[in-house]
Amino acid sequence: APGQTKPPLKVLLCSPRGFCAGVVRAIESVERALDRYGAPVYVRHEIVHNRYVVDSLRAKGAIFVEELNEVPDNGAPVIFSAHGVPRAVPEEAGRRNMLALDATCPLVTKVHREAEIHHKRGREIVLIGHAGHPEVVGTMGQLPAGAITLVEDIADVDSFVPRDENNLAFVTQTTLSVADTATMVERLKSRFPNIVGPHKEDICYATTNRQEAVLRVAPQVDAMVVVGSPNSSNSQRLKEVAMRAGCSKASLVDRASQIDWNIYGNITSLGVTAGASAPEVLVEEILDAFAERYELRVETVSAAVEDMFFPLPRALRETEAAE
Ligand code: SF4
Repeated sequence: APGQTKPPLKVLLCSPRGFCAGVVRAIESVERALDRYGAPVYVRHEIVHNRYVVDSLRAKGAIFVEELNEVPDNGAPVIFSAHGVPRAVPEEAGRRNMLALDATCPLVTKVHREAEIHHKRGREIVLIGHAGHPEVVGTMGQLPAGAITLVEDIADVDSFVPRDENNLAFVTQTTLSVADTATMVERLKSRFPNIVGPHKEDICYATTNRQEAVLRVAPQVDAMVVVGSPNSSNSQRLKEVAMRAGCSKASLVDRASQIDWNIYGNITSLGVTAGASAPEVLVEEILDAFAERYELRVETVSAAVEDMFFPLPRALRETEAAE
């Protein structure tokens, strides 16, 4: 009611949070393609795993499909999502003479190339990741069936039987839990001392930095809000990291309307972060919702400074240069 004083709430904003360089590039690719070719442009899979982003692009004329067979042969461009695609996808696009634009994050492509090199050198590959995630489907689809074995947890690592334990390599998904992956890599190395792989794993800078910021904030707050969509792997990991760091009231929310206010009854401090695919405008929306109920005092807790930038896919850059 007017005049009534609101309870104080200290908000610790995690930094970095939200958009990573791969997500910025992927979204800009769709926007640039819409400008250049006009609507509709087709996008294979959600360009990034955020409902708000996908709905906004759909409103501008992007049509989201799961597979290329849903795209008509009408000359409209088709964009591959940031998560990467199996090799069969660009091959089909090529056969059908489609204008294909690849918005796969360069850090995912890097993992594809690593896997390819291991395979060329005759190594059997172990992929640490989550079954069914499009990035995992894309990475496994770089090589013939059987070349890569997926392991999701320590039990999978323990039951894995290699063809030749002296000819093994590992790669990982980019958006995993840093702590869980370290444990799995350690177990792989202790079972197979000659396994080769990256220095630590293939988790990207954005995933690492967002988890590090949550690790600093979570032990200091009564509750934590992670802004992001349920199908976003890196957002789910942020919620897990918060809970394991001692913040039991951690929730993942897409929009302010989804906040379950029962959880936040008598808290005096709140941590806020956002997954790599969640736009800052949604963080603001959620802070506004809290500000209606609490007197906010906002501080930023910074774990890293990011200045990563990835240029747009070549085809989109060249079209521009030609004008
Ligand atoms: Fe690339 Fe990492 Fe962003 Fe995924 S989370 S798009 S791998 S920078």
